[in-house]
Amino acid sequence: MSGFVFSEKPIAIESGEGPHLYADDGTEYLDLGASYAVAPVGHCHPRVVEAVQEQAEDLMYVQASYPVTARTELYEKLAALAPGGIDNVWLCNSGTEANEAAMKFARSATGNSKIIATKRGFHGRTLGALAMTWKKKYKAPFEPLAGDVEFVSYGDEEELAEAIDDETAAVFLEPVQGEGGVHPASAEYLRAARDLTAEAGAALVFDEIQTGLGRTGALWACEAAGVTPDVLTTAKGIASGLPLGATLCADWIAEKPGDHGSTFSGGPVVCAAANATLDAVVEEDLPTRAGDLGSYLTERVEEATETHDLPVRDVRGRGLMIGIEVRRGANRVLRDLALDRQVLALPAGRSVVRLLPPLVIEEEHADSAVDALTEVLG
Ligand SMILES: *Cc1c(COP(=O)(O)O)cnc(C)c1O
Repeated sequence: MSGFVFSEKPIAIESGEGPHLYADDGTEYLDLGASYAVAPVGHCHPRVVEAVQEQAEDLMYVQASYPVTARTELYEKLAALAPGGIDNVWLCNSGTEANEAAMKFARSATGNSKIIATKRGFHGRTLGALAMTWKKKYKAPFEPLAGDVEFVSYGDEEELAEAIDDETAAVFLEPVQGEGGVHPASAEYLRAARDLTAEAGAALVFDEIQTGLGRTGALWACEAAGVTPDVLTTAKGIASGLPLGATLCADWIAEKPGDHGSTFSGGPVVCAAANATLDAVVEEDLPTRAGDLGSYLTERVEEATETHDLPVRDVRGRGLMIGIEVRRGANRVLRDLALDRQVLALPAGRSVVRLLPPLVIEEEHADSAVDALTEVLG
């Protein structure tokens, strides 16, 4: 018997610390994918480890209808950190569930069913979030999905204006598309989406599952654009690797709480991990660091591309969310990086190498990443 969904890589990981993972034979790997962006504060941050240990000794779980300190604290922290006062919090166990909840809440609050999503967009793998995800390969074997979704070209204001009408429940956008190839939206586009949804009475939902928690240089990517959505979803690194997602809602969305629920909503151990993670993000000022290190790393990759005439078509992104579009298969590059240079990164489609490093990396880690890329691509 064995797991069958993931194709496993020939590296068995035993432990982690900061930006590094260690294999069972002791080999050190620089984890520039942060294991799907799940380690913003690095692997096994001492503060998070301690919070989890202490909470596990007191109480592992109590249902969400009984207040418990760790959960109450997380509600308060998220409400305080949320952009523009969207401070009603729903807790779940993953990104896809946070988006499913956003779909349900938007439909319930507007009384409409139509959802607008974007080409190249990614929102998760369960049947609702999958219906808003663009890639055919992810969807075709599982149809019919939870439908009434219309797709528009990402970044095209006119197409969006044409698609939104008074039957629209919500528009779902990633402020920077991740999985779809690392494509940032302009502030103007996000503002246009804000105005158009407000006019139509539809909810604007920002999926910040990959862009949030400081990665793009601001705590939430939408803050840099000066746009507040009605709903914001977050997950991935929020509890440093324990399963947690959150859906933050404006009052008008949260007015009708509906019949949503989940057994594991806001368990104390994951909440304790999230509290410690959010404290570390804020107190270590990781958004600023992500902005600075992101510029540094991007410039160094561009420099290396020119100096060594590397087969790189484009380098793009925001902060420490970087896509390097290469003129050859990204998976081959990733394999060579891992096996020859002990650098782990992620693909974003066939030709993009995606870097989502822990926000605690130092310049020296950025330098060794560039050296490794230069050798593997050269
Ligand atoms: C990863 C991701 C999701 C899905 O999150 P899961 O926890 O894997 O369900 C949704 N949206 C975006 C933008 C993501 O990057």
